[in-house]
Amino acid sequence: MTARRNILVTGFAALCAMGVSAQQAWPSKPITLVVPFAAGGPTDVVARTLGASITKTLGQTVVVENKLGAGGTVAANYVVRAAPDGYTFFIHHNGMATAPALYRKLSFNPLTDFEYVSQAVDVPMTLLARKDFPAKNLTELIAYVKANESKINLANAGLGAVSQLCGMMLERAMGVKLQAVPFQGTAPAMNALLGGQVDILCDQTTQTIPQIKAGSVKFYGVTTKNRIKALPDAPTLSEQGLKDFEVLVWHGIYAPKGTPKPIIEKMNAAVRTALKDPEVVKRMADLGAEIAPDSKLSPEGLQTWLKSEIDKWSPVIKAGGTFAD
Ligand code: ASP
Repeated sequence: MTARRNILVTGFAALCAMGVSAQQAWPSKPITLVVPFAAGGPTDVVARTLGASITKTLGQTVVVENKLGAGGTVAANYVVRAAPDGYTFFIHHNGMATAPALYRKLSFNPLTDFEYVSQAVDVPMTLLARKDFPAKNLTELIAYVKANESKINLANAGLGAVSQLCGMMLERAMGVKLQAVPFQGTAPAMNALLGGQVDILCDQTTQTIPQIKAGSVKFYGVTTKNRIKALPDAPTLSEQGLKDFEVLVWHGIYAPKGTPKPIIEKMNAAVRTALKDPEVVKRMADLGAEIAPDSKLSPEGLQTWLKSEIDKWSPVIKAGGTFAD
């Protein structure tokens, strides 16, 4: 080996060793978990519940950072550009799969521009209206909405939010077009519903169950195929006549592309531990969320799932004709 080659090889080995020791020491400072919607809302609740458990496992605080805007794409853009050093992670839902069809000029590719950590929980949605909305049940709601289409508004959290996806599916199922009122998360949308400023909201059980139980909203049913354990008496929309209506919210955890594999593996293990943590299991069950099955918890499992969801939703969205730049 020439002297020059020797120096290069030794230098490379030293660099690798530094990389390995940096990874072994990971995490040595707080980890940021980016949430693409408002604090206090459904995604935030899932992020903070998991984050508290991951903090216990890794011995460093998981700090939730809410980066709002454009139905989650502002946050995704931020994460794509963040340093791949193991200190930035991202939690997002179906919006990662709907964004490519919704945004004409998306500046990231959900399928190739991230590292994939794990799925986490699946969350049903619920169809709600403001407390004094005239319709008492889904049949009345459909009749009322059809008769008053132009006067009724539907809150959502922007193009790419599941509240928007659910709203779009509902409009199609009912054959109406309502006034969309976008917020930067369904936490502020729920406040507007409670205040009577908006009429209808389709939102996740992680936020809506307390309001449903308190009777502070009108509640018409769940968006899942089957009834859910947390609201056993609540009918599905499908069993009440919106045949085959189904929207289920899944969550993925991502990292900037290039985050070292050993770190992804350690985070994956910490997420798996969190999903078995009795406090997480209880809180998620109380809020209607289901822990994702083991088969969905590998990095490859998330990427494969994401691809199948892009393939599932893109034609549905394209047929709807709602797009943004
Ligand atoms: N999950 C979002 C939130 O946390 C809203 C949405 O996707 O509809 O606010």
